[in-house]
Amino acid sequence: MAKSSEVSGFYKLLPKERLSIVKDFAGLTEEEIKLLENTGSLPMDVADHMVENVIGVFPEPLGVAVNFQVNGKDYLIPMATEEPSVIAAASHAAKIVRDGGGFRTSSTTPIMIGQIQVVKLKDAEAAKEQVLSAKAEILKKANDQDPVLNSFGGGAKDLDARVIETTMGQMLIVHLYVDCRDAMGANAVNTMAEAVAPMIEQLTGGHVYLRIISNLAVKRLAKAWCTIPKEALGGEAVVDGIAYASAFAAADPYRAATHNKGAMNGIVAVVLATGNDHRAIEAGAHAYAALNGKYTIISKWTKNKNGDLDGEIELPMAVGLIGGAVKTHPIAHIAMKILNVKSANEFAEVLAAVGLAQNLAALRALANEGIQRGHMSLHARNIAVIAGAKGDIVDKVASQMVKERKVRVDRAKEIIEKLKIEEF
Ligand code: NAD
Repeated sequence: MAKSSEVSGFYKLLPKERLSIVKDFAGLTEEEIKLLENTGSLPMDVADHMVENVIGVFPEPLGVAVNFQVNGKDYLIPMATEEPSVIAAASHAAKIVRDGGGFRTSSTTPIMIGQIQVVKLKDAEAAKEQVLSAKAEILKKANDQDPVLNSFGGGAKDLDARVIETTMGQMLIVHLYVDCRDAMGANAVNTMAEAVAPMIEQLTGGHVYLRIISNLAVKRLAKAWCTIPKEALGGEAVVDGIAYASAFAAADPYRAATHNKGAMNGIVAVVLATGNDHRAIEAGAHAYAALNGKYTIISKWTKNKNGDLDGEIELPMAVGLIGGAVKTHPIAHIAMKILNVKSANEFAEVLAAVGLAQNLAALRALANEGIQRGHMSLHARNIAVIAGAKGDIVDKVASQMVKERKVRVDRAKEIIEKLKIEEF
């Protein structure tokens, strides 16, 4: 009989009861169940309160990138990632930048945008004027929702409205601008957008559907820049290679996607380690890259008049020190302590620097020796483990495969067998 995935009341069960259903459905072994039950530093009951239908946790390596200096302050950067070489590359690039004077950064006030969608309007332009003329009342209603945020100097500061043309006719889109201080702000902004919706319906005679934060956080930007002497990179030819790579990506969305992914490798790893919302950061970065109608780069590299390399990155950075999983996830809490940032703005700026470092590392390798050589030894270790290598055999198998330039599971298995025979 075909198995059914329809399980009513699954969410009401205890994790161990859910596990037993999943065990039967998927044919999990006792050993696999034990692995799922062993949740380590994220206790099952904490995980169970964080999301729904929990049956375990998903561990990921947590590393620390070293050498970062941002505005003269030293940072150790916690990074959670499954991708080999990201942490090594960030550390290496940070060292090069450090030798050139470190990263400089800036950021805007942490303002997020809440969107309120008004439809079924007789006269959208008149409705817009009505909303704008009631700005003070609307902002007051929004601010009544979050006295705590207000007490920290944040809250709804301004609003705007515009009429857009859609396949379902004209709509009025109201933007609420909320200073979120040290919070990412999604819950805070959504609550405010929901609270002002009835007032906006009354003012406009229209109907409000969506009331939600925008992840295209153009008013919450972080910027980082650096200059690297050509000698630190291995000469002017490398500077040229990186500048050409940047120009290529600026002009070509196929390359821009990978260029930006390189920067996001680092940013997302830190965002994840600190329990922040990495989907929000990804969405914001890529939407920002396409803001002018054509997808392009979030970071660029040019050769300056001395022949040295100038780099800069700018992107929306909606991260928080409080709220979400930042405080509830015990490891995120420790990661925050390691990072030692005092405000969401400082955090956002460090993240921009990490993105720039990660991007530099990738471009330097690409423009120089090709990405695979640097990647290969870490990749080879993964392949060796997949093939069954354990302990110090892992490195032996990996280095043999790199030497042969044959990094494949079948070859790893052959080498493991050979080493086993040699041992006896
Ligand atoms: P939150 O609501 O848990 O915490 C924010 C609140 O903390 C503020 O409203 C304020 O009342 C209080 N606060 C205390 N000290 C503060 C300080 N120093 N600065 C600012 N506020 C302070 O969290 P949040 O940041 O509003 O929401 C983040 C969560 O929302 C994330 O988990 C995210 O995944 C989720 N989310 C995201 C989206 C999206 O991005 N589209 C949508 C919905 C939910």
